[in-house]
Amino acid sequence: MSLPETLITGGAGFLGSHLCDRLLEEGHRVCCMDNFITGSHANVSHLIDHPNFRLIERDITRYIQVDQPLGYILHFACPASPSDYLKYPIQTLKAGALGTHNALGLAKSKGARFLLASTSEVYGDPLVHPQSETYRGNVDPTGCRGVYDESKRFAEAMTMAYHRYHAVDTRIVRIFNTFGPRMRLDDGRVLPTFMRQAILGEPITVHGAGDQTRSFQYIDDTVEGIYRLLVSEITEPVNIGNPDEISILEVTREIIALTGSTSEIVFEPMPADSPKMRQPDIALAQSLLDWEPSISRKEGLRRTIDHVRKHMDRLRDNVR
Ligand code: UDP
Repeated sequence: MSLPETLITGGAGFLGSHLCDRLLEEGHRVCCMDNFITGSHANVSHLIDHPNFRLIERDITRYIQVDQPLGYILHFACPASPSDYLKYPIQTLKAGALGTHNALGLAKSKGARFLLASTSEVYGDPLVHPQSETYRGNVDPTGCRGVYDESKRFAEAMTMAYHRYHAVDTRIVRIFNTFGPRMRLDDGRVLPTFMRQAILGEPITVHGAGDQTRSFQYIDDTVEGIYRLLVSEITEPVNIGNPDEISILEVTREIIALTGSTSEIVFEPMPADSPKMRQPDIALAQSLLDWEPSISRKEGLRRTIDHVRKHMDRLRDNVR
């Protein structure tokens, strides 16, 4: 019988593709599954010839069958940027509900360990600051962002039900804002949008007065935290995020300075339902996983800006 594989749903997305890289480095045989509504072939094209990698195009909200034995399933498939999940509200709900159910059913039948990519969005627009895993959140189920928030809350409930009722070996990671190479420049998220605007000298579109806060973690730290949780024995949800909180206006100024941009800042209306603040309490990850972020926001921004510039140069060269 062949060695068990690790299945990564959403493996061609931003987080998923970095996890494919890391698990291959750790010696896993990786099966990457994606339906490519928000993921891209470019994110995994460097892996296509890797002997331990295979790519399957499939929608996990339909029944999924994998013939090989599976040791791990990492369930990352879901539109994850606000503009994506507002564009694909039903698919987003289905990825969290039907997709999670299918992935858990597969984990149960294969005896695989299952890791759910959950999110700081389960805390909604938080009334407690910073957010620890014990906070139950402030989510409006019928608000615009409810499609994402509630699908992830349901996914967590489903994961715990499979854990308690079917004894599936499960992990839940609550991921806070993550950035880095391979984010789509048009995914609408704040950092790639501002970087693109700053590099092109276009106006930088700050929502509201820019006094809302976020805490941004660099992708390598996120991947390290997820990997440590995967190989741990912790079945309760764990926050993985960088507690270094900053207002959107301040991060705009950092990006302008780092790119040497001449862009002006323009203020636009705040999108409905957008959380006013977000900062992870990472005491649990520090004590149980001996994990904390090691890459500063400035260093992460420098690396990502470098990547964005190269990507934009390539796009320009292809157009010429
Ligand atoms: N934002 C902004 N301008 C943009 C895009 C986003 O000011 O062009 C703000 C957005 O309103 C929010 C924050 O940046 O307050 C982070 O937004 P993002 O879409 O990156 O993700 P979120 O953390 O809200 O899920």
